[in-house]
Amino acid sequence: MILLLFGPPGCGKGTQAAFLAQRFRIPAISTGEAFRAECKAGTELGKLASEIMSKGGLVGDEIVNGIVASRIAQPDCARGFLLDGYPRTVPQASYLEGLLKQRGLPQPTVIHMDVAADALVTRLTARRQCPECRRIYNLLSQPPRIAGQCDDDSAPLLTRDDDQEAVIRRRLQAFEEQTGPVLHWYGPWAVCRVDAALPPELVSQAIEHAVAERSRDSAVLAR
Ligand code: AMP
Repeated sequence: MILLLFGPPGCGKGTQAAFLAQRFRIPAISTGEAFRAECKAGTELGKLASEIMSKGGLVGDEIVNGIVASRIAQPDCARGFLLDGYPRTVPQASYLEGLLKQRGLPQPTVIHMDVAADALVTRLTARRQCPECRRIYNLLSQPPRIAGQCDDDSAPLLTRDDDQEAVIRRRLQAFEEQTGPVLHWYGPWAVCRVDAALPPELVSQAIEHAVAERSRDSAVLAR
C-alpha cells in the first residue's frame, strides 16, 4: 500500500500520518523531516537545504527524487509506505510514477486533507506558546488553566510570528499554488478528498474508509 498525504499547514497531517503508519504498519516518510535531519547533522545537503528552507523555497527535484528513491528502496518499505510532503511538483509526481512502475509497485492512493482556509486561520490563530518552556496551547482545543498563562511556569503565553493571520494566509496560498497542479496531475478520480475540518478520530475513519474503497476498486480493475 502506497499512500500520499496532502494537506495544508495546520490541517492535522502529522497526526494522521502517525495514525496511518501505525494502522497499516508502514513507515511514514516526510521529506521535510529528512531535510531537517540533514540540517541538524550538518551535512553538505543539510547546508544547501537549510538555505533554501529558510527562504521558504523548494529543494531541487533531482535532490528530493534521489532521497525518496533511496529511502523507498529500504527493506522496511517492501510492504508499502506513506509519503508526506512529496511529491510537491509535477516533475516529482511524474518521477514517482516511473519509480513505482520500475519497482513493480502499485500506483499510490492519494489523500487530500481538505479544510477551508478560514477554518485553518481560526485554528492556527488560536495557538499560543510559552516562551519559557515552549509548551503549545490552543485556546479552542487545549486552553491553559488560567487564561494567558502557562500551566507549568505561569509565563505569559505568546502568539508565534508564523501564527499571525497574514502569515498563515500567505502559507496557505503558497500551499494551494504548489499542490493544486500536483493534485490536478493525478486527476479528480484518483484523489480521495477527506474533510479535515472534522475531529481527528473522524478524519482517521474517513481516510481509512477511502483507502479501503480504493483498494477494492484496484482489486476489481486488476481482475
Ligand atoms: P515540510 O516539513 O514538508 O513543510 O518541508 C519543509 C521544507 O523542506 C520545505 O519548505 C522545502 O524547502 C523542503 N521540502 C520538503 N519536501 C520537499 C519536496 N518534496 N520538494 C522540494 N522541497 C521540499
